[in-house]
Amino acid sequence: MPTDKKLNIGAHQSAAGGYGKAVERAADIGATSLQIFSSSPRSWAGANLSKEDVNAFKEVKEEYGIDPVVFHAPYLINLADRGATGEKSIQAMTEELNVAARCGIIGSVVHVGSWKTDDESPEDDEHFEHLIKSLKTVLKDTDPAADFLIENMGTRKIGKSFEEVGRIIDACDGDERLKVCLDTCHLHAAGFDLAEGYEDFFQQFDELVGLQRLSVIHVNDSRDDFGSLRDRHANLGEGEIDERVFKNLVTKSPTKDLPLILETPGFDGKGPDEENIKILRSHVN
Ligand SMILES: [Zn+2]
Repeated sequence: MPTDKKLNIGAHQSAAGGYGKAVERAADIGATSLQIFSSSPRSWAGANLSKEDVNAFKEVKEEYGIDPVVFHAPYLINLADRGATGEKSIQAMTEELNVAARCGIIGSVVHVGSWKTDDESPEDDEHFEHLIKSLKTVLKDTDPAADFLIENMGTRKIGKSFEEVGRIIDACDGDERLKVCLDTCHLHAAGFDLAEGYEDFFQQFDELVGLQRLSVIHVNDSRDDFGSLRDRHANLGEGEIDERVFKNLVTKSPTKDLPLILETPGFDGKGPDEENIKILRSHVN
């Protein structure tokens, strides 16, 4: 990677009024990449885009130079569920990835779900098998242009450990479209230290998952203590995460070369803002 590559700091923005409006909002606060919900994050209703909508979005994205754009999947998704929720999750993820591919959106960041079993990280049992079957169905039925990004979790949900993430990817025959989004708040909640332990963490990540799968970083501070298994986001500098974590993110590989997307509450409570971007950028020096 060239060392003079510019930081790509992005933000989650509302897509109210259309995806193009979200692009404008991102550009307004000085972001160069963007995350949006494809539709309401708390509903199963998918996005319904006409050809004109898609073209208009692609144009505005090009015009403002916002790249990449990624979806965040709805919170209702649970691909390990063996009932109606599981079925709806497969359908929703299939639609979402196909919309992403049409729009030139790189994929969808997904909270994969929860096991709903006493076993914190089952393997080779019916819960695990069902998740793999669901994932394979989604990947098979969707346009290969869109990736499925597993987000690491900070609570007792699927994706809390990288042994588990690696096991899931392996069981899907290492499908190349399975990527990973790391969230700093979730890492902090799950007890991964990226201040002193940055290099060790990524060496372990490479062994268990593979650095080539790392696609997006969510940059958030945390309202909760290290290892608390609670994952409430805070504005940068207002939370419990060691400042050195943010410094490492913007100065060290692999993270400095990836889209660093903010999901902070914002200093005015309206979501990721210019101030959070400035704070992250200030850690370069
Ligand atoms: Zn996140």
